[in-house]
Amino acid sequence: MHPSGKEFALTKAAFYRCWISLLSLLLSGLLAGPVRAEVVVLDDAFTSLVMGRHVRVLEDKTAQLGLTDILRKPAQSPEWSDRHREDLNFAYSNSAFWLRGELVNRASHRSEWLLSLRYPLLDYVDLYVVWPDGRVQHHASGDRRPFASRPVRDRNFYFPLTLRPGEQVQVFARVQSQGSLQAPLEISTTHHQEQRAQNEQLLLGLYSGALLAMLLYNLLLYASLRDRAYLYYVVYIVLFGIAQSTLSGLAYEYLWPNSPNWGNQATPVFMGLAGWSLVLFSRQFLDTRRHAAHIDAVMRVLQWLFVAIVPATFVMSYAWSVKLATLLTLVAPLLMLILTAILLRQGVRQAYYFLWAFGGLLLGFMLNSLNRFGLMESSLLTDYGMQIGSLLEITLLSFALAHRLKLSQQANMRLQRAHAAELEASVLARTRDLDNAMAELTRANARLQDLSVRDSLTGLHNRQFLAERLPEMWRFAQRWHQPLSVLMIDIDHFKQVNDQHGHAAGDEALRQVAAVLSEIIRRPGDHAVRYGGEEFLVILPQTDLAGAAHMAESIRLGVQSLDVHYADQAIVLTVSIGVACTIPAAHSLPETLLNAADELLYEAKHGGRNRCALQPQALEELTMSPGSVLSE
Ligand code: GH3
Ligand code: MG
Ligand code: MG
Repeated sequence: MHPSGKEFALTKAAFYRCWISLLSLLLSGLLAGPVRAEVVVLDDAFTSLVMGRHVRVLEDKTAQLGLTDILRKPAQSPEWSDRHREDLNFAYSNSAFWLRGELVNRASHRSEWLLSLRYPLLDYVDLYVVWPDGRVQHHASGDRRPFASRPVRDRNFYFPLTLRPGEQVQVFARVQSQGSLQAPLEISTTHHQEQRAQNEQLLLGLYSGALLAMLLYNLLLYASLRDRAYLYYVVYIVLFGIAQSTLSGLAYEYLWPNSPNWGNQATPVFMGLAGWSLVLFSRQFLDTRRHAAHIDAVMRVLQWLFVAIVPATFVMSYAWSVKLATLLTLVAPLLMLILTAILLRQGVRQAYYFLWAFGGLLLGFMLNSLNRFGLMESSLLTDYGMQIGSLLEITLLSFALAHRLKLSQQANMRLQRAHAAELEASVLARTRDLDNAMAELTRANARLQDLSVRDSLTGLHNRQFLAERLPEMWRFAQRWHQPLSVLMIDIDHFKQVNDQHGHAAGDEALRQVAAVLSEIIRRPGDHAVRYGGEEFLVILPQTDLAGAAHMAESIRLGVQSLDVHYADQAIVLTVSIGVACTIPAAHSLPETLLNAADELLYEAKHGGRNRCALQPQALEELTMSPGSVLSE
């Protein structure tokens, strides 16, 4: 349903009102209204009070004035101003600032209080308590002085104050710092402060514990997975942790309490290193090099800008290097958020986790930096935004890293499956190739074997074939009592062919006769063999004498009707054939049959050539009488 026009106008108005109130809230921090300094009453019910509304401020541009100079300027003098921000945030300044306030003890008994400045990075803090009788109590502290100078051993500045009932004192605090200058002067009971310290300690312990746990967890992950993202994350946690502790004053208290100069320098150094490692990790985590080269380039520049802070701290004044570091931690997160949003639009899934994990932290960085520049009033968010953000971040990021692990596992599995399929395919292909090669080899072998039993001139079988196969055919015929016939064929007057037409013509004639034989010998099992120079043998298994005679006659006629020409000269060719047949007896040898055929051929030659000589009956009953002769 669409809202009506009026409803829409209303919601629009409400929207603007919302923005206006938000803006005025922000502006109220920038343009603080006049505040009136008045005496702070400490009674039995009192616990604590931030004295922003109860102090007057004097800016000493020379930073040279001492307490005696200050005491000469009465509270009503216009040099003391009460137009200042309630959180006493003076941002970056070269001046020293003096605060003055008055306290009166209305409690029923002598009581102990703590004056505090809960901003650990102040360079010089001098606190003076002036009694009406002129007595002065002075504490000199600040992080440019050795840690031991502090009256209360703490990362923040605490100054004990004991007042007898009814006693009224003036309090002067002088603060001077090259870094962001914030002087949230506060007074509280010792008891109240102790309780607060306890709570803070607990939260700090929880926070450090979480950081430490994440550090160890990711270190172990790196040790087993060797994924650089985890290593960079560990480096980042360590550097971020140290940077955080320099900002909170813990590093000065515990790591280098006797090196105030290094203690100050360490803040921008570790801010730079932490920023560097964060960008380094982000690039690895978001895989920007693969996803978006231009975004990667911007991030690389950011990364090196952060690193550049480290040498800069040795050349520049602390004031400038810390300003540079703070500016970078204000700009870099904003840029990173924009770049991540672009990656998200490009569909990079990791960017989604990154935005969730780092969104809070980066926002925390920015709020904190804004506060340091005096652009935002101190609040829970500016003071603890970073810690809350980083807790969110390490929790969400361990989830994101786990997801990354899952992704890489899935990719691995896909790869493995693809590999297995590839392997199988290649094995199949190899097997096929091998099979083909084997078949080829077998064929080649068969061809070779065939060649070895063939005559090169005519292509018919040679005597080698005869020697190998005839005994076999002979045994077969023996076993099954089947007739086996042979034709012994010789070309007539072949010498004359050679003499008249030349050897080459003779060769051609031989090929033509062989072609006739191949043409006529068609039945499987029948074979034609070149037996000698111009002699041929035809073997006909399972063929009786009549069949063999028929074949012989066909051959004789076939050769006779050949029309052989060589060099335009006609060559007349005829053959004589001896035809023998037998059903081989046990223990008999094939030579008997061949001899019989040879003798019959001789007969045919003598009979006048161009004829077939048949054996009168099967060889078994043979009595070697001259047989009938078929002639043309
Ligand atoms: P016949 O009718 O009595 O068989 O007379 P012929 O001339 O055929 O007599 P013979 O068997 O003695 O002669 C065979 C001749 O065949 C001898 C040789 O010159 C010739 N010859 C043998 N082998 C080849 C060959 O491979 N090529 C050629 N061109 N001639 C051959
Ligand atoms: Mg011959
Ligand atoms: Mg011959």
